[in-house]
Amino acid sequence: MVSLQPVRGTHDLLVDDKRRHVHVEETARAIAARYGFEEISTPIFEFTEVFARTLGETSDIVTKEMYTFDDKSGESITLRPEGTAGVARAFISGGLQQSLPLKLFYRGPMFRRERPQKGRQRQFHQVGVELLGPDKPMADAEVIAMGADFLAELGLAGKIVCEINTLGDTESRNAYRDILVGYFNDFHDRLSEDSLIRLKKNPLRVLDSKDEEDKAVVAGAPTMADSLNDASRRFFDDLLASLEAVGVAYEINHKLVRGLDYYCHTAFEFTTDALGAQGTVLAGGRYDGLIKQMGGPPTAGVGWAAGVERLAMLVDEPPARPRPVALVPVGADTQDKAFTIAFELRRAGLTVDMGYSGNLKKRMNRANKVNAVAAVILGSEEMERGLATVRDMESGEQTEVPFSELLPHMARYR
Ligand code: ATP
Ligand code: MG
Repeated sequence: MVSLQPVRGTHDLLVDDKRRHVHVEETARAIAARYGFEEISTPIFEFTEVFARTLGETSDIVTKEMYTFDDKSGESITLRPEGTAGVARAFISGGLQQSLPLKLFYRGPMFRRERPQKGRQRQFHQVGVELLGPDKPMADAEVIAMGADFLAELGLAGKIVCEINTLGDTESRNAYRDILVGYFNDFHDRLSEDSLIRLKKNPLRVLDSKDEEDKAVVAGAPTMADSLNDASRRFFDDLLASLEAVGVAYEINHKLVRGLDYYCHTAFEFTTDALGAQGTVLAGGRYDGLIKQMGGPPTAGVGWAAGVERLAMLVDEPPARPRPVALVPVGADTQDKAFTIAFELRRAGLTVDMGYSGNLKKRMNRANKVNAVAAVILGSEEMERGLATVRDMESGEQTEVPFSELLPHMARYR
């Protein structure tokens, strides 16, 4: 007997859920297109090192969350937990440095073995953008503004805030790291085991801990702001000025660090309190070192990814699908004619619904159920006279229309 439960943390997207997802994805793609971003896809699995070497050996994703298996050839494969590493890999293997600057949009499933809860699945979906090439703060402002426009287009402007921070350049980050290590070293007895490991390998990541006791220690930690060198501070100020120039509201949060190792300068998250604990709907930052670290040419980059499930929970009903015209053959002998009329109407661009069986009453019930704009009723006697009856479902008005005039008559329902 086959297990009929989907695997824990995975979900079917049945018609209504899928419609909401598609609405979120299409909105993202439309906004991205408006900003000049084009869609690409990368494989949903990659060699494990694509993620293991780039996301950071202390990140939650690499330490706990990856779906990794050995292929029959003995190679280690991982289902992608996020999109940026794959895009960076594709940039290098596709030799795309000739085409910089590149503005890329992607969407698709991601996989992380986390504890499933509301807004947290093991297979979930992201839409995301990457802007490769420019190293100026205006590029950061552009992708953040695009994120804000996307959320506004989904009707979420009032429900979401943009939190932003700077991690500075390498020099600033190193200075801050030393200060942080000095601070955290006084709290060895209170920090979680995970955080003690991070303290050794990547102290900034302690700031991102979700452990309650860690959070209490983090609350008193010195902030990045005091460690920024002039260049990093100017970068951040310019970014904020650009955001203000285009009316993007933000809140500075100096404790915001992103979970992955490859970020520098800008880090940001769009959060809501409408989803309980899983409040981050869109997050990203600048990752100038990533592509070089993977073995490619030094290439600046900035981008974000948004969780489609979380956004789908927040949006109102997506726009309804187009209302169909219902074809209603009455009697077996009109079925074939109705079938050909249905195709003619579809080829003329109308949405057509035709059931497979049933009498007039049953078929008209169905026409109501699918919210038809009009019904084309085809009785045997009328068919012999070369006519169909078109019923406008709004007004209830019925008109006899000769077959030859049916297409022009129906054009109003397109
Ligand atoms: P979180 O702190 O919620 O675990 P994260 O920092 O791991 O988020 P990112 O890697 O930045 O998340 O991914 C970007 C977005 O993808 C998140 O803001 C969220 O909306 C979504 N997301 C991440 N993990 C999941 C998941 N397991 N299930 C559903 N959505 C997710
Ligand atoms: Mg996570």
